[in-house]
Order: sequence, then structure tokens, then C-alpha cells
Amino acid sequence: MNYKIALIRGDGIGPEVVEQAVLVMKAIGKKFGHTFTYEEILMGGCATDQVGKSYPDGTAERCKACDAVLLGAVGGPKWEGLSAQQRPEAALLAIRRDLGLYANLRPATLRPALTDACPLKKETAEKGIDLMMVRELTGGIYFGKRDRYDTQDRGVECTDLMAYSEKEIERIGRRAFELARLRRHKVASVDKANVLETSRLWRSVMHRLAEEYPDVAYSDVLVDNCAMQLVRDPGQFDVLVTENMFGDILSDEASMVTGSIGLLPSASIGDSAPGLYEPIHGSAPDIAGQDKANPIATILSVAMMFRYSFQLPDEATAIEAAVDGVLGEGWRTADMARMGESVVGTCQMGKLICQKL
Ligand code: NAD
Repeated sequence: MNYKIALIRGDGIGPEVVEQAVLVMKAIGKKFGHTFTYEEILMGGCATDQVGKSYPDGTAERCKACDAVLLGAVGGPKWEGLSAQQRPEAALLAIRRDLGLYANLRPATLRPALTDACPLKKETAEKGIDLMMVRELTGGIYFGKRDRYDTQDRGVECTDLMAYSEKEIERIGRRAFELARLRRHKVASVDKANVLETSRLWRSVMHRLAEEYPDVAYSDVLVDNCAMQLVRDPGQFDVLVTENMFGDILSDEASMVTGSIGLLPSASIGDSAPGLYEPIHGSAPDIAGQDKANPIATILSVAMMFRYSFQLPDEATAIEAAVDGVLGEGWRTADMARMGESVVGTCQMGKLICQKL
């Protein structure tokens, strides 16, 4: 089978980590008999430099002509002085909007060889952490109407509107239940139904869906309790589904318990357009061009692409096993290394994973 992948290498360490992911896809193609063709897409600060726009015209259409999109990272100090609309990060919001990517999937998995890197108690880490955060990405307070006005007696006052429709909640909820069926058949829905009306609607839609998926164990968790449980006993969670702002905060908390930021992949998916796969880290300008970046988050993003866009679970599992194999032998990039461990660069880490495959 041939798959066409849009490659947005981006800025900073983006091109370095994407290059290693491409080599891993080559190794997978050889092992499983697939071919991959690439559409190189300029986006981010590098696009501003070359064509004057961080999100050049036609970017979304070119991505839509592909089966999936792999993104390195965009942004950096060089473009920080630009207006909010011109900044490379604006291109990220634009592509998510134009591709209709309403579901953000962020696994937080503690790789077995790295339990020492977990900041939680040893006995908590040893129980294992393997959860999937499903965050609603295009609704809620980040997209609601905002207002700022003067009052006579209280100075300036501002409002941010949080709105959710049944339709928006149902489509993200279905994603979570379907994902749970590919995992350990558990969904915990995070809300603040003791206070917020949007959360009460969220909860009622989730309860309706739960009846449609009797094979999935369902529970409600209040967001404040969830924040506590993520550091007390994250091993209890399989799929966590939540609205945009709660998900933004909780997914960062969940990623911290797994060690380095250089390890975590993500996917943003919609109903029809290609999914977008990217590491959760940024362009890391402090280490760009030095062969120091950890390519594993991007390589594991390719595994997510195989599993969720191409329905190739064996290929995804092979990549994850190769990563665990290399980490199990003690190889580390600098961000993960402890005293006495063998430190390798970006290219060598990619090469070791390809060899394992
Ligand atoms: P960052 O994730 O780029 O870096 C934070 C720290 O983590 C740095 O010390 C960096 O060296 C380290 N780090 C990140 N990825 C690493 C990797 N793969 N291997 C080893 N170390 C790694 O976050 P930041 O410094 O806040 O942002 C830098 C730029 O990236 C900014 O312009 C920001 O807007 C942009 N950004 C882009 C995205 C994206 O493209 N999706 C996401 C976040 C930030």
C-alpha cells in the first residue's frame, strides 16, 4: 500500500526530528511492504522568511490531498516580534481549523525503561502509567465570545464565554469511547458539573453515550479531583475525555509524570480530513542544529499515525517496541540521561530505532 504524507518540518529542531521519523517510516516500509510518498509543506517561521507568510496560501488544500500530516514544530525567538496573526504559532491554529481537527489525542505513557524518570513515588511509577487524554480542541472558552468594557464602580470588566453544544460533545465523546475499545475499555469523563451548566450538559451527553457502549466501563471525574488523581494514582486511568480548557491544563500535568517532554507524541483528528501528528514539544531553539534533540516524540507520532489514520496497528506496535527496546538497552538522548547512561545524538537515536526495527 502507498501512503501520501504531508511533511511540515517547520523550525528549530523540527527538521531534525522529522528527518529521523522519515527514516523510521522507510524502515517500516521495508519490513511490512508499504511505500510512502511525501509532500513537503512550508509552514511556520521558515515560511515567513521564504514567502512572507507563516501559513502560505493553499497549505490546507495541499494537506487535504494527503493521507496524513506529520509536523515537527514551528516558532522561535526570531519571529517573536511579529504581530499575533503573523507569528508562526498562528499557522498552527489555522491548520487545525482548516482541517476540522476537533479531537486532540495525547497519550501519557511511562516507558518501562524510564520509570526512574517519573517524578512520582516509586511504587506509583512501578504500577505503570498508560493513559490517553482526549481533549476537545475547537470549542469552549478558547473560542467563545470575549468582551472588555468599563464599569462605573468596578473599573474594567471582562468576560469569556464558554459554550458547548450537544453535537460538539457527542462527537468528541464518541471518539473517546471508540478509542477505549482499542485500549483497556475504560472512559473517565472530566467535568465541573457541580458548578458549570456546560459541564452538566457534557455529563448528560456522556451518560447517554455510555449506554451505547456497555462494554466500556464509564465514570465521571470532577476536574479538581482529576488533577489530584493524576499525581496520586495515574495508573487508574485509560481514556480521559474532557473539554478544551480542562484538557489543555490536564494534558500538560499528565505529560510531566512520564519524564521528558521529548518522548510524547500527539494526534489531532477530525471526521474526514487527514489527521495531524506531532510531538507535544516546541521548536526548542536552545538546542536546534546541535544534534541534541530527542526524536522519540516524533517517531511515536508516526506510530499514532499508523494506528489511527492508516489502521496499521502491527506497524504502530513495532515502532513502539523498537523505541522500548533501544531505551531498554540504556541508550538516551541528553534530555533523558542520568549519570552513567550512554548519551547519543538525534541521528544516532534514530539509527538505533531503525536498526531495532
Ligand atoms: P519547547 O518545547 O520548544 O522547549 C522547552 C524545553 O524543552 C527546552 O529546554 C528544550 O530544549 C526542551 N525540549 C523540547 N523538545 C525537546 C526534544 N525533542 N529533545 C530534547 N529537549 C527538548 O518550548 P518553548 O521553549 O516554550 O517554545 C519554543 C518555541 O516553540 C516557541 O516559539 C513556541 O511558541 C514554539 N512551540 C511550538 C509548538 C508546536 O509547533 N506545536 C509547541 C510548543 C511551542
